[in-house]
Amino acid sequence: MKLGLLQYAACLNCQSPLEIRVEREEDEEILEGWLICPSCQARFPVRRGIPRFLPSELPPDKKATAAAFGYEWTHYAELSDQDREEFLDWIKPLDRDSFTDRVILDAGCGKGRHALLAAQFGARNVVGVDLSEAVAAAYQNTRNLPNVHILQADLSSLPFRDAFDLAYSIGVLHHLPDPRQGFLSLVQHVKPGGRISIWVYGKEGNRWIEKIVSPMRIHVTSKLPKIITRVVSFFVSLPLYAALKVIYGPVWRSPRLAALKKMLPYGEYLSAISGYSFAENFWNVFDHLVAPTASYHTRAEVTEWFAAAQLEQVEVTQRNNNSWRGTGVRSRAAI
Ligand SMILES: [Zn+2]
Repeated sequence: MKLGLLQYAACLNCQSPLEIRVEREEDEEILEGWLICPSCQARFPVRRGIPRFLPSELPPDKKATAAAFGYEWTHYAELSDQDREEFLDWIKPLDRDSFTDRVILDAGCGKGRHALLAAQFGARNVVGVDLSEAVAAAYQNTRNLPNVHILQADLSSLPFRDAFDLAYSIGVLHHLPDPRQGFLSLVQHVKPGGRISIWVYGKEGNRWIEKIVSPMRIHVTSKLPKIITRVVSFFVSLPLYAALKVIYGPVWRSPRLAALKKMLPYGEYLSAISGYSFAENFWNVFDHLVAPTASYHTRAEVTEWFAAAQLEQVEVTQRNNNSWRGTGVRSRAAI
């Protein structure tokens, strides 16, 4: 943990600014200690360099979902060359300039790949939060950057006031038990006039996943020992990888074959990921099989979340025919 985090962190109970008691420090990095609220005396530990704002008891599904993604991102902590292009696509119509000199919240940071990019795009400070032990991977991936802070907390109960110019949440809200409530709670941490950007699975374009893959995921693969889910993912990845390289890749690259994108099953999505390495492809399959909680949302639902939060300049657009990205600005007037 870096001292700079203190300017944004607030007590979970009473929102007062926190004080730090350092127990072990190394090169300006606080490895062990306590964040203490001078008003209500609440104490939050800093362990292995990461402030931990965990509730004492998590509901079992939330705990299992966090364990699933903790497993995924600590076993697949490497960063890839494609992360940058993919991130910029997920946050459209925002771009690199949206980060310049801004204070950023990465809500559900996983292994920290987007927090790292946000810092490279010139953010003043980036705070990455995740409920799972993936924070350990995020911490290792960003530790050398003075303006990236990683902490462990539940998205529906974050230790901040409205501290952020831009909050984004990529592929996370649909793994919460109540994504709408998670969204509304995130908006509370955006400054008036600041922006939020999200990406979630669409109901449109994912009918067969909901009908066939979801029941398998819920009743079978999310309950298996992770190593067995890995074996299953491996055998699913083999034919998928072959199809990506032999069919979808050429369609993606050749303008003459572009019309085929519409005719092939999942043409838009699978050709977009046809450049994935085998490892990326394998972990993507694992990602879809491992989580006990995942939900799919219509455009109307996502649009309603933005309306409920009274956001302005709202844009909801479809990505790869099977997911939604949305962005909006927090009203200055509503505060
Ligand atoms: Zn307090």
